[in-house]
Amino acid sequence: MSTENHSKISSKDLSRNFQEIIPALTKQEAMEESNRCLYCYDAPCVKACPTGIDIPSFIKKIASGNLKGSAKTILTANPIGASCARVCPTEELCEGSCVLNHSTKPIMIGNLQRYATDWAIQNEQSLFSPGQKNGKKVAIVGGGPAGLSAARELALLGYEVTIFEAEEKAGGLNTYGIVAFRLPLHISYWEVKQIESLNVEIRTNTRVGKDISVQEILKTYDAIILAIGMSKVPELGISGEDLSGVFDAIEFVRETKTKPICSQLLGKKVAVIGAGNTAIDAATSSVRLGADNVKILYRRTSEEMTAYEFEYDFAKQDGVEFRWLTAPVRILGDAHGNVNGIECIKMELAEPGEDGRRSPVPIKGTEFILEVDAVIKANGQSRYVELVEQFHLEHNGGVVKINPSNYQTSNQKVFACGDVIFGKGQQGDAMVVSAVQQGKESAYSIHQLLSPSIVETA
Ligand SMILES: Cc1cc2nc3c(=O)[nH]c(=O)nc-3n(C[C@H](O)[C@H](O)[C@H](O)COP(=O)(O)OP(=O)(O)OC[C@H]3O[C@@H](n4cnc5c(N)ncnc54)[C@H](O)[C@@H]3O)c2cc1C
Ligand code: SF4
Repeated sequence: MSTENHSKISSKDLSRNFQEIIPALTKQEAMEESNRCLYCYDAPCVKACPTGIDIPSFIKKIASGNLKGSAKTILTANPIGASCARVCPTEELCEGSCVLNHSTKPIMIGNLQRYATDWAIQNEQSLFSPGQKNGKKVAIVGGGPAGLSAARELALLGYEVTIFEAEEKAGGLNTYGIVAFRLPLHISYWEVKQIESLNVEIRTNTRVGKDISVQEILKTYDAIILAIGMSKVPELGISGEDLSGVFDAIEFVRETKTKPICSQLLGKKVAVIGAGNTAIDAATSSVRLGADNVKILYRRTSEEMTAYEFEYDFAKQDGVEFRWLTAPVRILGDAHGNVNGIECIKMELAEPGEDGRRSPVPIKGTEFILEVDAVIKANGQSRYVELVEQFHLEHNGGVVKINPSNYQTSNQKVFACGDVIFGKGQQGDAMVVSAVQQGKESAYSIHQLLSPSIVETA
């Protein structure tokens, strides 16, 4: 693309690139697809869904034209079911286990889920009512998928729930992290509104540990759920990270969702460091912002990358290049402090260590320079260690230790779920749907703790 052409592209043109990429099913498509389902008894798709949505039932309701009933079936099991319809790696979960994989092609469960939940959104349906007050109060720290899901279940059980959310809007990474062309903002906002409509108080712009103390929360509430997720991208620890044109991938994506689209990357060459979902989101956003060339640099191989298969395919379709076994050594800048290159080194994988993973090792003398105008760091996420320590919870590098049977932390009054318990050998995946299920289960554990007689007689 020539510079002359670039100057003709406005931010408005670019912002069109951020519209949702997968089109919604038409009524006819939804009917045909829902009628293909075999409504299996003991359906494997249900078992493969972490939230256990009754998939044959919601699909059957679409086929019979009962869209409200369908949406209710989905959202009963998964309070964040409209977002999950768009962001779940369905080929690894429900669709991957559909019996039709053996004959024709799996049912498009994600798209049907989107069809039913979109109907509820467009028709402004309010599908749930709060339970009768039981006099107990629960604080939830963090209003992402885990916190919102826990709040919904607790509100249905009659708890007075307050969510403390550091950001201006709740929704966590659904609002600020996952790119708009896969998950538009209004979907996340609708889910937040549904939970607020159950009299859940959401105190936004309130960072626990700063705007309200941990002691006050511990003193005021009968139980607390820590659902703070993970923090920003850590430093790479190489020179040049302070240059202009070096970005934190999560901040970078967040800006595309919350600020007017800018043409800063138009015609530029971009290197993204890392190969997880965040890296893919940053790379595909860069393409949509008009970058001429986007490379993902990863120190391992495609075998070890953590991005979902569909994300990887999507990035390749977008023209993103992948450089495997390549690690950054330093970021280079010009006399004005702007990025103009990145020095890399080729890697090889050593024999598997105790954890079964093969570590990347640099190959001496293989350094080379790539000319780039921007570097986006997507090498994982750091943890909110300080807050976890203010709660005096046992943790491993900020990953809160829990009893896996009930999500209780080392403080009996405090439960933890979602990304804050992900990693360092603990069970689970960093996925929206896992965070949702863990939120539900934490809520039931609290109910067991605070109202055991109600649970037993229920
Ligand atoms: C770029 C990106 C793309 C992703 N893509 C996908 C995808 O396609 N599919 C998928 O399933 N998963 C995806 N994930 C993972 C998924 O987003 C997370 O696993 C999920 O959001 C975890 O939910 P959570 O509620 O635990 O945390 P979060 O969503 O991070 O929410 C935590 C909330 O806590 C708040 N908080 C933090 N500290 C405080 C404090 N001190 N006081 C008050 N509030 C606080 C935060 O502001 C935030 O709102 C992606 C993640 C990223 C970063
Ligand atoms: S496994 Fe496939 S065919 Fe069977 S109920 Fe689930 S979606 Fe329908």
